Amino acid sequence: MTTDRKFDVLIVGAGMVGATAACLLARSGFSVAILEAREPQVFDSTKAVGLRVSAFSPGAQAILTEAGAWRQIEQQRHRPYRRMRVEDRDESVVIAFSAPEFGLERLGTIIENQLVQWSLWQTLQAMGGVEIICPDQLEALDYENDEPVVRLSSGRSVQCRLLVGADGANSKVRRMLGIDQKHWEYGQQGIVSVVETAKPNPGIAWQRFAEGGPLAFLPLQDGTSSIVWSRPEAEARRLLELDDAAFCAELEQAAAGESQAWPGTICACGPRAAFPLTMQLSHCYAASRAVLIGDAAHVVHPLAGQGVNLGLLDAAGLAEVLVAARSHQADIYSEKTLRKFARWRRSEVEVMARGIHGIRGLFMPEVLAPLRRFGLGLVARSWIAKEAFIKRAAGKNRNAPALARGVALTDLLRAPSS
Ligand SMILES: Cc1cc2nc3c(=O)[nH]c(=O)nc-3n(C[C@H](O)[C@H](O)[C@H](O)COP(=O)(O)OP(=O)(O)OC[C@H]3O[C@@H](n4cnc5c(N)ncnc54)[C@H](O)[C@@H]3O)c2cc1C
Repeated sequence: MTTDRKFDVLIVGAGMVGATAACLLARSGFSVAILEAREPQVFDSTKAVGLRVSAFSPGAQAILTEAGAWRQIEQQRHRPYRRMRVEDRDESVVIAFSAPEFGLERLGTIIENQLVQWSLWQTLQAMGGVEIICPDQLEALDYENDEPVVRLSSGRSVQCRLLVGADGANSKVRRMLGIDQKHWEYGQQGIVSVVETAKPNPGIAWQRFAEGGPLAFLPLQDGTSSIVWSRPEAEARRLLELDDAAFCAELEQAAAGESQAWPGTICACGPRAAFPLTMQLSHCYAASRAVLIGDAAHVVHPLAGQGVNLGLLDAAGLAEVLVAARSHQADIYSEKTLRKFARWRRSEVEVMARGIHGIRGLFMPEVLAPLRRFGLGLVARSWIAKEAFIKRAAGKNRNAPALARGVALTDLLRAPSS
């Protein structure tokens, strides 16, 4: 097998997570190749808001800043939000969060996935030390002198010291490494759309645990909202087939509370799509000179808006561990180095994933309503519980990667952690 060049790191998948890892590792001085099957679409702000948007936490914002992409993102359309409101279905319990109460400038920012991926690509193209291999695909994985050699659809082979699987929920890298997962099918789909309310979204991330599943309204720059509405599969298919007026009427009813407060009247909706909702947790995040990050390693229910945020924390954690290994003259692919990354990130993700799974379970059957109201009431009244939740959701808890907590990459390179 012939390879033209050997890289320190080869990343398979240049979605938001893989591209962030590539930027951080290249800026840390590693030679990086990144392989992507599909050329990303150019972001065009004259077009309507895309269907896939995400809530990016302050920690994710700090990571994207260090990756070099945030400046470009914030020059385009995005919507910071400083308030969040979580309601039980009958509004008997409401948990309200506001950024200043936790010393934060914002709780998060709503951004189109396409803008984030495009900005990261622009950053990658502008920086040296990264080879972008696109369009091409992973076909086979072999080892030569114990080093991963990836064979591509084009016939090319690429050798690396460390392979990173960032190739999404159906990760081929994960399957080739033989890493198993626990998999939960929720039997639900998340319907997404952009909707216009009679009263514009006041800049609040609003979520109601409606009957059948959570319903979220995320604020967009022009006062419209991006919704994620979890519904049982058959019900989701039915809702997708309704005409716009009928869909808006059903959405309005699901969102209506007794207090008649916002969101109120839904005037219009854009195109709709639905995504299957699952939880997938890999048994380990590292094997044979390879690691998994992002959805390749874990998929969580979108109710807490944490999927891509966890993936960006993986990317930052990986950069931190590899920089520390190099500064201690350790191999970036040594078992000790990879075990450190895998244990750290897996335990952090499990806390969040199981928390989300538990919250979702608690909200489903009506028989659990008294327990739910009691638990929610405690959280609503406890500043300590709210602060612990916000710190973790913001990516600012004690165990979060340094880059998420605001440490600059240049400082990490000067004084790596032990
Ligand atoms: C309805 C919904 C709402 C959500 N809302 C939020 C939210 O508000 N906040 C949040 O944090 N998360 C949210 N998420 C989750 C978030 O969208 C995902 O966690 C995130 O997109 C995963 O990014 P990734 O880069 O890991 O994977 P992907 O985006 O899947 O990227 C994988 C990349 O790998 C490439 N690839 C795959 N196989 C190969 C191969 N063999 N060779 C080469 N390239 C390959 C693909 O083309 C792709 O570009 C939501 C999810 C859903 C379904």
